[in-house]
Amino acid sequence: MDNQEFTKHLHAVGEWIARYQREVEGYPVCAQTRPGALKAGLPVSPPRTGEAMEAILEDFQDLVMPGITHWQHPSYFGYFPANASPPSVLAEMLTAGLGVIAFNWEASPAATELEERMMEWLRQAIGLPGNFTGVIQSTASEATLCALLTARERLCGFTTNETGLQGAGRLTAFCSDEAHSSVDKAMRIAGLGSVNLRKVPTDTAFAMSPEALEAAIRDDIEQGARPVCVIATLGATGTSGFDSLTAIGEICRRHDVWLHVDAAWAGSALVLEDCRWMIEGIEHADSFLFNPHKWLLTNFDCTAYFVRDTTALTNTLGITPEYLKTSAGDVTDFRDWGVPLGRRFRALKLWFVLRAYGLEGLQHHIRGHIAMAQELGARIEAEPDFELVVPPRLALLCFRYCPNRSYDDEHIDELNQRLLASVNASGKTYLTHARARGHYVIRFAIGQTFTEPRHVDAAWRLITSLARQL
Ligand SMILES: *Cc1c(COP(=O)(O)O)cnc(C)c1O
Repeated sequence: MDNQEFTKHLHAVGEWIARYQREVEGYPVCAQTRPGALKAGLPVSPPRTGEAMEAILEDFQDLVMPGITHWQHPSYFGYFPANASPPSVLAEMLTAGLGVIAFNWEASPAATELEERMMEWLRQAIGLPGNFTGVIQSTASEATLCALLTARERLCGFTTNETGLQGAGRLTAFCSDEAHSSVDKAMRIAGLGSVNLRKVPTDTAFAMSPEALEAAIRDDIEQGARPVCVIATLGATGTSGFDSLTAIGEICRRHDVWLHVDAAWAGSALVLEDCRWMIEGIEHADSFLFNPHKWLLTNFDCTAYFVRDTTALTNTLGITPEYLKTSAGDVTDFRDWGVPLGRRFRALKLWFVLRAYGLEGLQHHIRGHIAMAQELGARIEAEPDFELVVPPRLALLCFRYCPNRSYDDEHIDELNQRLLASVNASGKTYLTHARARGHYVIRFAIGQTFTEPRHVDAAWRLITSLARQL
C-alpha cells in the first residue's frame, strides 16, 4: 500500500470510528450471533495474493461488526467498563502509527520519560504517597504476578529466580474469598501453587476479616509454611468489597509479609478526594495497582502499577543479555519492570486523556456514575419484588428478582438466570452476574464514557418489565 492510498484509507477509517462513536447506540449491546457464525463466513485458508482494502473494509463491516459486543455502548453495564474515550483513541492511533517498542530508554526516550512523568501525575491524581513509583503494565493480572514474584524473591533473599523453588519451603499467600481469579492464576504461574493461596473469609460487607487473616497467618507459620504475600482488594469484582488496608497492613507489618493492593476498578474513583477513605492505611502497602483502562477514560491496555521499592522489582525482573546493553547511562529501562520485553507506547494515551479532561473532567466523569448508581439503588429498594443484595459501592450494585419470599433459593437463582438471559437477548442493554453469599445476583456496573441517567433509567424499566413477564 503506497502512502497516497494509505492516506485515503486512513481518512475513511478515521471517519468510520467517529461515526461509530456517534451511532453506537443503534447497535444491539451484546452481539446477537450464534457460535460459529463468523467462522462460517470466512475462507478456511489465507488469500494467495493481496486483496483491495475496499473489499477488506467492506467485509469488516458485514462480517465482523455483527459479532461485536459494544463495550462503548452507553447502555453497557456488564463486567466493568472499558472506557475508550475520544482523546485516548486518538493517542492510540498515533501509537500504532509510530510502532515503537519501548523496552528501554534508547528504544524511544520520549516513551520512557513520558511514562515516568505520567505515573507521577497519576500518583498525585489518586492521592498515593510520594514514595510510590509507577510503571504501566498491560493488565492487573500481570501487575499482580509481578507483585507476587517480587514478594517471593524478597522473602527468599533474591535467590529463587536462580535456584528454583526447591529448598524455599512452602510459601503461602492470602487474599479474601472475594478476590479476583488473577490472584489464583499468579500463584500458579509463580510456581507457588494455588493450594497455597489461603482464601480468607469476608464479613457482611464482603471485606476480608482481619482476625481470620491473622489466624491463617499464625496457623501457617505454626505448620512451618512461610507467608509471602497478602493481596488486599479494593472494590472486589463480584460484589465490590473493600478490604481494610489499616487492619490488614498492621498484620502484614507484624509478620513482615508483602502487602499488595488490587484496586483494578475502584482505583479510578480515587481522583475524588471523598473516595480516599479506601486507601487509609496505604502506608503499609508494598505495591498497588489500578486500571485506568477500566474507568479512567483510557482505552485498553493500561494498568498503573505502583511500588515502594523499585530495586526489589528490578532485582526480580531485570535481565540484560548482551544484545540489550546500551550506553545510555542513568536512565530507566522499563523492560526490567515487568514480564514481557516488548512494550507498547501506552503513556501517550494517558497524556492525552489527563490533558484533554484535566483532573476536574475525570472527577466529573466518576462522580456522575456514582450518583447514577446511588439513584438506581434507591429505585431498586423501592420495588417490593426486587432485592438490593449489594447496595451501591461507588458505581456498582447487585440485585435479584425475588417476587415471592417463600420461593426456595434454587428457584430464585433460576428466575434470575432467565431474567438476565432475556435482558441481554433484548440487545437494549447488557449486564452480567456474580454470586453473593451463594446467591445468583445480577451486577449493574455503571461507567461507560457516554452513559447518562436516561440510559440507566431505560435499562431499569426494561429489567422490571421483563422480570414481571417471566
Ligand atoms: C478486572 C479486575 C482484574 C483483572 O483485570 P485485568 O486487567 O483484565 O487483568 C483484577 N482484579 C480486579 C479486582 C478486577 O476488577
